Amino acid sequence: MKTILVTGGAGFLGSHLCDLLLARGDEVICVDNFFSGRKENIAHLRNHPRFELIRHDITNPLFIEVDQIYNLACPASPVAYQYNPIKTIKTSTEGMIRMLGLAKRCKARILQASTSEVYGDPEVHPQTEDYWGNVNPLGPRSCYDEGKRVAESLCMNYHLAHKLEVRIIRIFNTYGPRMDPNDGRVISNFITQALRGEPLTIFGNGQQTRSFCFVDDLLNGMMRLMDQDVTTGPINIGNPGEFTMLELAQLVLELTESKSSLKNVDLPKDDPKQRCPNITLAKSILGWEPRVPLREGLQKTIAYYRELLKL
Ligand code: NAD
Ligand code: UDP
Repeated sequence: MKTILVTGGAGFLGSHLCDLLLARGDEVICVDNFFSGRKENIAHLRNHPRFELIRHDITNPLFIEVDQIYNLACPASPVAYQYNPIKTIKTSTEGMIRMLGLAKRCKARILQASTSEVYGDPEVHPQTEDYWGNVNPLGPRSCYDEGKRVAESLCMNYHLAHKLEVRIIRIFNTYGPRMDPNDGRVISNFITQALRGEPLTIFGNGQQTRSFCFVDDLLNGMMRLMDQDVTTGPINIGNPGEFTMLELAQLVLELTESKSSLKNVDLPKDDPKQRCPNITLAKSILGWEPRVPLREGLQKTIAYYRELLKL
């Protein structure tokens, strides 16, 4: 049994990760400042004998004893991370330094939840891990993209300087139950709009693409990366199935049997035109590939929102 710290453990991905680690027999310490996470996501764990919740901001010092750290703390939706851009940068930089310092003192292995956003608006397609990316360092997404790039650099330098055991996962758009219905991401927006009979908001002409990975697949890859001894990473984890936002909207309308219309609104600045992971490394090193097709994952997510929102 290991003692495992999950930062951002009350968030969408973090709460599922807590569930999986507890089910495996580990002791889990969940740290969250509830900026974009929700107590409901972990309410069912409150009385679990191996679960502990600490309300804490990772930019502040934390002195606990742990064997592993999954550093997921950071708002992930553009609406959330642009709400307070300076705080977002601090979480990915100061917070990362705090967590690396904790890992160093405890001699703990640490996994950093990085992102496909380090590739920016990519000119290499699909994106391989050796692509350096095309990020606007001054644009509205830079607080997130550049913060995550610095976090990767910090991880690599702690690994080189202190022989810290680091793992870097580059997560591509992931969806599923427990995504905050109000977080402004495309899947939560489209499903809640379709269920309420409101128009689906297509940003720009809807021809931009994303590749959507179901949460169960993503976490399976994340835990495999943490527990292998071959590589520090970075490793892309995502589903290479690539869809335009118009295709996604049509699929959501079909699966919800909604009569909602589509409404075109302005494309946000610096919105990446295309995104698709090359997962060759994940396949060869982790023996991992996604199993849940978009249609099936959307059905599960729609069922969750129907229940949550009583729609
Ligand atoms: P989320 O917003 O649901 O979860 C993030 C959690 O971190 C929240 O519970 C939030 O309250 C907490 N948090 C934020 N700042 C904090 C701080 N300073 N101290 C303590 N807690 C803090 O987002 P998510 O989708 O679960 O994403 C989890 C991680 O995965 C993030 O680091 C994100 O950047 C990364 N990621 C997610 C996706 C995705 O599609 N979901 C894609 C790429 C990367
Ligand atoms: N998007 C959209 N309608 C929405 C929300 C998002 O068309 O209501 C688009 C957005 O412009 C982007 C894609 O969907 O091209 C994915 O957006 P999201 O915020 O989910 O993630 P990210 O841009 O970070 O990949």
